Parts: sequence; C-alpha cells; structure tokens
Amino acid sequence: MYDFIIIGGGIVGMSTAMQLLERYPDKRLLVVEKESGPAQHQTGHNSGVIHAGVYYTPGSLKAKFCLQGNIDTKRFCDENDIEYDECGKLLVATNELEMERMRALWERTAANGLERTWLSAGELKEREPNIVGIGGIFVPSSGIVNYRKVTEGMACRIQSMGGEIRYNTEVTGLKEEVTGVVVVSSEGSFNGRYLITCSGLMADRVVRMLGQEPEFRICPFRGEYYLLPPQHNQIVKHLIYPIPDPNMPFLGVHLTRMIDGTVTVGPNAVLAWKREGYRKTDISLHDSWESLGYSGIRKVLRANFKPGLVELKNSLFKGGYLKEVQKYCPSIVKSDLRPYPAGVRAQAVSADGKLVDDFLFVRTRRTINVCNAPSPAATSALPIGRHIIGEACKQFGIE
Ligand SMILES: Cc1cc2nc3c(=O)[nH]c(=O)nc-3n(C[C@H](O)[C@H](O)[C@H](O)COP(=O)(O)OP(=O)(O)OC[C@H]3O[C@@H](n4cnc5c(N)ncnc54)[C@H](O)[C@@H]3O)c2cc1C
Repeated sequence: MYDFIIIGGGIVGMSTAMQLLERYPDKRLLVVEKESGPAQHQTGHNSGVIHAGVYYTPGSLKAKFCLQGNIDTKRFCDENDIEYDECGKLLVATNELEMERMRALWERTAANGLERTWLSAGELKEREPNIVGIGGIFVPSSGIVNYRKVTEGMACRIQSMGGEIRYNTEVTGLKEEVTGVVVVSSEGSFNGRYLITCSGLMADRVVRMLGQEPEFRICPFRGEYYLLPPQHNQIVKHLIYPIPDPNMPFLGVHLTRMIDGTVTVGPNAVLAWKREGYRKTDISLHDSWESLGYSGIRKVLRANFKPGLVELKNSLFKGGYLKEVQKYCPSIVKSDLRPYPAGVRAQAVSADGKLVDDFLFVRTRRTINVCNAPSPAATSALPIGRHIIGEACKQFGIE
C-alpha cells in the first residue's frame, strides 16, 4: 500500500510529489504517468517563460503562486544546475487603446507588488531597436527556462528520495474505498491511502473515473508557434509581449527568446480537435464531440465568435499571423516564420460558459484533483505543490 499516489508526470504532479517526499521522507509514494517520460504534454510544449505576475487579479491564487513561483523556480534551477536566463520582459503598446490598457496593467502590477519601469517610445527604442511602440513597461524579473529540464530535475529528486515513478502506465479506473483508493492502470492495480491527480488535459475524465460528474469540461486550445531563422536570434534582448485584450484569456502572439538561443513567435489560441494532438491535422471525433457536445464550450465559442474566427484565419494563413507580430516588430517577413511544434492548453470551462480563470481543485474524501492549472502553472508549480500539500494535510488529517 502506497501512502500517496500521484497521477501525472507533468510539472504540477512532479512538484507535488517531490515536496510531499521532502515533507514526509518515510512515506511510500508513487507517480503514475502514461507517457514514456516526464513533461510530454503541456509542460513540454510551452513558451518556457518564468512569468513575473503582470496580469493576474491581485489576491487571486494565480497572482500569489506566480510571484512566489518566479522566485522558487529560479532557486530550484540554481540548486539543480538547470540553466535559466532572467532576461526581463517588455510589454509594448502600439496604439492609444493599448496605451490605456497598459495603464491599467501598470496599476495591476503595482497592486501585485512587482518591480517595473515605465518606458517612453524613445526609451523603448533604446532598449530594443527592432521594436516599435508608443510606450512600454519593462519587467526585470521575467525569465526563460526549459520546463522539461525542470521537471526532469524534480523526477530525479523524487527517485533519489525513494519515490517510485512508473512511466508507460495509463490510469483507466479509480475506486475510492473507506480506507484507500484503488488505481487501475494498463500495468495493473495500485493501492494508495490518498490520491492526488494532476492530469492536465485529462482532468475531467479522471474526475469522472472517481464516479463524480465534473461541473466543468476541459476545452483544449492549441497554441501554435513559428520559429525565426538563426540570423534573427539576436533580434530582441528581452521577451516582447503585446498588450492583451483584457476580455481574452490568452496573452497574444509574443516574441520569446528560448533558452537554447532561438526565438519563437506565438502562441495563438485556436480550438483543438484533439486533446493531445500537436499537428494541425490531428483530429479525434471523440474529443471533438466531447467539446462541442458541452453547452459551456458552445457558449464560449458563441461569445468569442469574431475573435475566434480571426484566430482561425491566422492559424490557416501565415499572413494574418505575421500582421500580429509586425505590429511591434515590423522587420519580420513571411519567410521568417518557420515551422515549430504547437502546444495544447487544458482550459477548464464551466457549464455557464465561462473560462475558469483561477486554479481549480475538486476534492473527494481521499483525493485532491487539480482541474484547472493554466498558464502560468509551469512558473507556479512549486507553490501549487505546496498549496496542495497544505490542503491534503487539512483534508486527510495528516500531520
Ligand atoms: C502553448 C502553451 C504555452 C505556455 N506557456 C507557458 C509559459 O511560458 N510559462 C508558464 O508558466 N506556463 C505556460 N503554459 C502553461 C503550462 O505549461 C501548464 O500550465 C503546465 O505545464 C501544466 O502542468 P500540468 O502538470 O498540470 O499538466 P501536463 O504537463 O499536461 O501534465 C499532465 C500529465 O498527466 C498525464 N496523464 C493524464 N491522464 C493520465 C492518465 N489517465 N494516466 C496517467 N497519466 C495521465 C499526462 O500524460 C501528462 O503528462 C503554457 C501552456 C501552453 C500549452
């Protein structure tokens, strides 16, 4: 019998497992992951940004975890010899409407206690000669890292503390009993006293395995990127972000310096036809039916019909995508946009048609299930893990 079983070898599952073992070194712990290694889904297909906490509602879990996560991620990298770069981020306003929205972000960053500098158009040009805008905000604590490496580092720590990780093991059923939980998988059954699930794109299905009807559905949103050619590796010194529309849940196409020295453009946000489908042509009738059959997701699509169509057009035709980035970096041309693997975001949608903004947990007597861990959950994975452990102590009555 294991004391704890964790489902999901992404950064949230590994962070929780690692910190559980640090707190309870004598407990038996198992991580179950269906893929052949860690971080094969959202954690291994993202922008690699260590966010600073610019956008999030002051007081929300997102804001609290991101600010702490920014510090914790860098400390974890220092302690485990993982490369990162605190390159800073520039938010760039290109017109009066964006300037107004940028002023609101300036207030929000103050409420979140973030160090930042207001830049005039001239100061912006001085910092980034290839970027145009009428003003900007510089946030020095944003950085870049490879989250796959961070998660591998966590997996190593888990194993070195005596934790077990079983890859290639897909959970297919769960049975909660009075004294524990039975986890049924492709590789046999495991018994645990307590279960924590961090299953990303499969969160609603895992909750259903517990015999619960989730009050949300995971809506998969593709995030498509392009890679700039090597001659543009020095095109920017910082991460360059547009000013997002506050009514939209995603941050807009940005220029991201990657930790391997390359620069990507993206991601956009389009409905995915397959939850773990990374190519444009990946379609699952089952996944699509589940999305479109849910009234909450249909409401989201109806409410965002126009911007959704623009995103879809920009996904199908490079020209539209190019215009998004040319607004602030006019020297990029169509032939600069080279193929790069996409990611798929797990976004929880409620029955009333709202994109769940904050982290969402569903609890049963012996389980805690992470049901919405959107960006910046890679940055925030260490505080999220600690939060889950705090909740587990209270809920399961463990010291
Ligand atoms: C395009 C994109 C860009 C992003 N950019 C950033 C960024 O720059 N910075 C940032 O902080 N965040 C970013 N994010 C968000 C961040 O990547 C995610 O919030 C985070 O990785 C979520 O981690 P997770 O462990 O919850 O999920 P995942 O990494 O998806 O892990 C879930 C794991 O559960 C496993 N699993 C599921 N079902 C089962 C089952 N039945 N049995 C066994 N295993 C199972 C899956 O195989 C998977 O490995 C981005 C996300 C995307 C998609």
